[in-house]
Amino acid sequence: MQPGKLIVLTGPSGVGKGTLVKSLLDRNPQLHLSISATTRQPRSGEVDGVDYYFLTRAKFKQKIAENSLLEWAEYAGNYYGTPKEPVETKIAAGKLVLLEIELLGARAIEQTYPHALRLFILPPSIEELERRLQSRGKDSDEAIAKRLERAKIEIAASNEFDFEIVNNDFETALIEIESAIFSCQSQR
Ligand code: 5GP
Repeated sequence: MQPGKLIVLTGPSGVGKGTLVKSLLDRNPQLHLSISATTRQPRSGEVDGVDYYFLTRAKFKQKIAENSLLEWAEYAGNYYGTPKEPVETKIAAGKLVLLEIELLGARAIEQTYPHALRLFILPPSIEELERRLQSRGKDSDEAIAKRLERAKIEIAASNEFDFEIVNNDFETALIEIESAIFSCQSQR
């Protein structure tokens, strides 16, 4: 059996990670996305247990106390974390598991899974990122401002990652991600 592998995809909010991940999963059924827990309110159309496990802050803190999260971080005023058990079970079964998480979580994974493949998705420019965040119309002005502030910190750390991929042309970015995942598979 091939050893399982953890793939971490990080990049600022609004860079298009969600859409890239959706296409990656559609095109590569051998990839399994980890469903995170969060204390953020569901956005319209988001489904509990599909997009996230939406938890109260008390419940999230209980998960931390129980040590049932592989990593967690506070982001723009909410908690986000990766449930440990599903990831460990899939890795042990030889599967490729994708985590779509922010910078602090990616750093934590580097400690626990040093062989994880870590990819950072960059916007073509910070101006374009701001435009994307505003045009998707999902967040308040205050939330967008917090996300942009965090984006600058994250982008400054992008060189910590194994691959930096610019999401300018969507299809090109997708192919670059696939080639990073599948060409590295045999070496890790
Ligand atoms: P959003 O609120 O836009 O869904 O996500 C905000 C940020 O939280 C994104 O950068 C996303 O990658 C990150 N995120 C989602 N799930 C997790 C998680 O389980 N752990 C960490 N550390 N970050 C997460």
